[in-house]
Amino acid sequence: MRASFRIGRIAGVPVGVNWSVLVIFGLIAWGLAASQFPRSYPDQPTWAYVLAGLSAAVVFFLGLLAHEVSHAVVAKRNGLEVSGITLWLFGGVAELRGEARDPGAELRIAGVGPLVSLVIGFFFGGFAVLLALTGVGGLLLGALAWLAGINILLAVFNVLPAAPLDGGRLLRAAVWKATGDRTRASVVAARAGWVLGALLIGLGLWQFVRGAGFSGLWLALIGWFLIGAAGMEERHARMGSALRGVRVADVMTPQPQTASGDMTVADFVDHYLFAYRHSALPLTDDGRPVGLVTLDRVRGIPAEARSATTLAEVACRADQLVLADPDEQLNDLLPRLSECADGRALVVAGGRLVGIVSPSDISRAVQRGSLRDQLTPTPR
Ligand SMILES: [Zn+2]
Repeated sequence: MRASFRIGRIAGVPVGVNWSVLVIFGLIAWGLAASQFPRSYPDQPTWAYVLAGLSAAVVFFLGLLAHEVSHAVVAKRNGLEVSGITLWLFGGVAELRGEARDPGAELRIAGVGPLVSLVIGFFFGGFAVLLALTGVGGLLLGALAWLAGINILLAVFNVLPAAPLDGGRLLRAAVWKATGDRTRASVVAARAGWVLGALLIGLGLWQFVRGAGFSGLWLALIGWFLIGAAGMEERHARMGSALRGVRVADVMTPQPQTASGDMTVADFVDHYLFAYRHSALPLTDDGRPVGLVTLDRVRGIPAEARSATTLAEVACRADQLVLADPDEQLNDLLPRLSECADGRALVVAGGRLVGIVSPSDISRAVQRGSLRDQLTPTPR
């Protein structure tokens, strides 16, 4: 999930918000201020409903943020890098780089989030009970009670044992611990995610038919998202397993043809393009990679502008390049591949370009690896 705007860093992790959060924020605040609060606590001024609705929605998102930050902090403590936290349509995501090294780490990283939501829920619940006991009622009590309920619901929903929910990771940790087989554990959790997604779609549509309206559709939408994400996790797990032990040097195309950034696009198209076998051209300066031109980028330059445009101008800039070490595990490189370089990585040794890894190199390696996985059962 892409962040539309960054709101800062928490515990050293960049936090971003996707625009879709605004939709959910609006729906929650509006639902509370215009419907739920006036129904439960009538005869209050409109501004009080609006204030209570807006504040409850803000605190809800702060709770969501605390949930994700706890995943990020525990992941870091367990040796994982966290590239960012993004709040979006279906809650939050803490983007972890790499995978937990053992089932225990997986359990801690996944478990802490729902635990934090639960603690927040009980905190607000306790606060609400105290207020009720001292005779304070009204909107403040309503907002606290809603916050208690929604956070406990969040904790419970998140521990449903199905990927990509936290509960799916807990299930994965358990199966991993029991079988010693990480890939199998991921596949089990992903299949469970598929089943839960299908159930939610069924339930949501049934509710919709029975007149639940938006909330039914919402449930079905979450189910649809779960199915997509679970499928992706299963493919990812199988790919990770197929590529285990494969180094960048094993799959790269060594010593690719290169060009200088000063060459014009016209020169390249007229004299080099047809002799050139690949669809990406690294630019080097004295052996150092300084850019990467893909044929798609060249194609984007109109014919009349080609003689006035240099390759350096159409290239992915040096700071957008994905660089890899020949001895690096291919599995560690995959999450770094970026859109600018069109999924390609330049392999550098001693500061000099020694190879290039393209998406077709990777898919060939996956095919070979999955054949190997079929031939030799994974060690227990
Ligand atoms: Zn979580």
